[in-house]
Amino acid sequence: MALLKKTGKLVIISGFSGVGKGTVVQQLIGNADHYALSVSMTTRQPRENEKHGVHYYFVKDEVFEDMIEKNGFLEHAGYVGNYYGTPRAFVEENREKGIDVILEIEVQGALQVKRRHPEAIMIFITTPNAREMERRLTNRKTDSYEKITSRMERAVVEAEHMKEYDYVVINDILDDCVRTIEEIIVNEPAGPRYDPKFKERFVQSLKEIIIERKNCTEFGEM
Ligand code: 5GP
Repeated sequence: MALLKKTGKLVIISGFSGVGKGTVVQQLIGNADHYALSVSMTTRQPRENEKHGVHYYFVKDEVFEDMIEKNGFLEHAGYVGNYYGTPRAFVEENREKGIDVILEIEVQGALQVKRRHPEAIMIFITTPNAREMERRLTNRKTDSYEKITSRMERAVVEAEHMKEYDYVVINDILDDCVRTIEEIIVNEPAGPRYDPKFKERFVQSLKEIIIERKNCTEFGEM
């Protein structure tokens, strides 16, 4: 009797900029061999240490638009002035082989995928608070002061979509966060997923920090 191969799971990981999604995902993949990480295509400039084909496929607008035209993306979205998209073929081929595919994408794209693939497991990662998010973005030293403020503004919008995710996980201690996500993917536990009070506090604090940062820019105190 031929055994039917199980389709791999589709796992979407989103979260505020600077939350450490990349590190979480790398650790998750390093711990197990049943995951494949989708490499996205983007029109943004590579950061120092980022490699074409490893971190992203870095392409020009024309190439990205051509890929849209050919229906080559599972989803795509604009984010802080650039395009980002998930190449469809990689996801489909791996899932067919029974490998769980991880997408590390922002909320607009995540919701597009969930609409087409309701079976997708949606996980939102957040920092414990907004100040910590600002600290991590600043320490990363990859974005200008203004760009960090834009990423925080974007987080205000993204926070409103936290409730559409199946799970919200706080990345305070990295190992704990990775363990929690692994447990979610394997067991898909039921239970409380989203705390509206946490979201409200986070957004309130984000807004205060954004005002503070804009005042600093205005008075040249950066
Ligand atoms: P960054 O510029 O910091 O690498 O990524 C910015 C945002 O784009 C992050 O929230 C990241 O998760 C998201 N992102 C990366 N790849 C994709 C993708 O293929 N599609 C979508 N929708 N978002 C992506």
